[in-house]
Amino acid sequence: MASVNPATGETLREFACASAAEVQAAVERARAAQADWNALGVRKRVEIVRRFERLLHEKKSEVARLITQEAGKPRAEALLTEVMVVLDAARFCADNAYAFLREEKVGHSNLAMKTKAGRLLREPHGVIGIISPWNYPFSIPSTETLAALVTGNAVVLKPSELTALCGLELASLLYAAGMPRDVFQVIVGDGPTGGALVESAIDKLVFTGSVGTGKRIAQVAAGRLLPVVLELGGKDPMLVLDDADIDIASSGAVWGAFVNAGQACLSVERCYVHRSLYPAFLQACVRKTKQLRVGNGIDTETDVGPVIHERQLRVIETQVEDARARGARVLAGGQRLRNLGANFYAPTVLSDVKHAMQVMREETFGPLLPVMAFDSDEEAVRLANDSDYGLAASVWTRDRGRGERLAERIQAGTVMINDTISCFGISEAPHGGVKASGIGRTHGKFGLEEMVRVKYVDADRMPGMKKVWWYGYGESFARQMEGFVDLQFARSWGERLRGALRAAGVVKRKGL
Ligand code: NAD
Repeated sequence: MASVNPATGETLREFACASAAEVQAAVERARAAQADWNALGVRKRVEIVRRFERLLHEKKSEVARLITQEAGKPRAEALLTEVMVVLDAARFCADNAYAFLREEKVGHSNLAMKTKAGRLLREPHGVIGIISPWNYPFSIPSTETLAALVTGNAVVLKPSELTALCGLELASLLYAAGMPRDVFQVIVGDGPTGGALVESAIDKLVFTGSVGTGKRIAQVAAGRLLPVVLELGGKDPMLVLDDADIDIASSGAVWGAFVNAGQACLSVERCYVHRSLYPAFLQACVRKTKQLRVGNGIDTETDVGPVIHERQLRVIETQVEDARARGARVLAGGQRLRNLGANFYAPTVLSDVKHAMQVMREETFGPLLPVMAFDSDEEAVRLANDSDYGLAASVWTRDRGRGERLAERIQAGTVMINDTISCFGISEAPHGGVKASGIGRTHGKFGLEEMVRVKYVDADRMPGMKKVWWYGYGESFARQMEGFVDLQFARSWGERLRGALRAAGVVKRKGL
């Protein structure tokens, strides 16, 4: 397997895929190391995360350059959407881990349980397997890894076969920060190596990738009830309401559709515009799209880099051909840019699209912006929800209240008002989808929750007393219990009082 620069075709490094036996050995080493790592305590783990943050900050330009070389995105994007996201995630984990892991007292309102002292403990799962994609090859595995490690888990990461170097860079930064080598390990390999990790003795899996792979993994995981987080694909809608600012919304659409050459799970993949704005909005999108500079992301003047590989280019071409054949118009782009290299596709704006077209139903993961008109907010919400996916969505309006009300009706894990995609850069915001876009959350408090098992510990404050609900049943006990239920739940105060009198005998009860 080779890591290849998608802009130039240059092979950056070749690797041998890890075998199933090597994967299993890595998981065993991780398991052996995890108990000590957890016992080290949250303060020491946070120190390592903070050192990692400082080291990454020092090496930010180098890391961004590597990301650009391996995944193709422009340098500014590598810094903003990868390095900065990871720095913020490290800060979030370090700042919040202590409070998050602190045990919580659990109060009881049921009178029968008043002698109980309950508390919640958050314990690490043990060894967490992480399988990640190539499109955000540094930020996705790093944010998930940091949350898993700071909560006391060991991690075995399998980065995408296309971007193994970014995964290895994460390891070298963590090791330099003092992370024990067996607590965090990277195994390189392709699908079968990932499959071996799913079948290994890991305690939980965090998978980010396509719906197809996610479903296959879920089937294997079901066989042994392996808990999984599945961060899958999206077909995110953008709704431009009749009061939106055309200049702002069109700039948002162009960035949202073409950032990372459209290869973002949160990309704008479907754009719906109120009919009154449709012509002017399209015109603005076309003008701005034609100004974009496509090229090698290493050049700081580049806006849009290459597509990752030939397979992805063919998906894009198929969708454009399907749309053209069914009456869509290509207003910008619509072809490969072979003069730039094998993997470049022109940012493309499509109008007159219909909902049955592939480009409105299947994830593109490429630089396409299909735009469709709608007549009412009702229709816009219906179109947005008419999808198998539900990762994120955006609503564009000058009236924030109207946007917020619409947001509540859209089926998605996240809805942004007057922006798109940037929610991924908010470490506090949970990330994840509904419907085919996945199960579970990463990032923020809910992302930390996925990394722990909750244990409830309950101690009786009156250990010298037999509990009234233990054996020794009989007619009088049944009457006392009825009274006890009435005491707590009867509608009127009178009934409650009568219940209390009937229940009173329970106190003297001896039981078995
Ligand atoms: P992919 O599903 O092809 O591969 C993802 C990872 O799974 C890779 O590391 C791959 O080697 C591994 N894999 C492949 N087959 C496997 C198997 N049978 N068992 C275990 N592991 C296996 O996805 P991709 O092309 O790398 O990434 C693009 C997809 O990821 C898009 O659909 C995109 O929307 C999605 N994505 C989702 C999010 C999110 O947060 N929801 C983020 C980024 C990307």
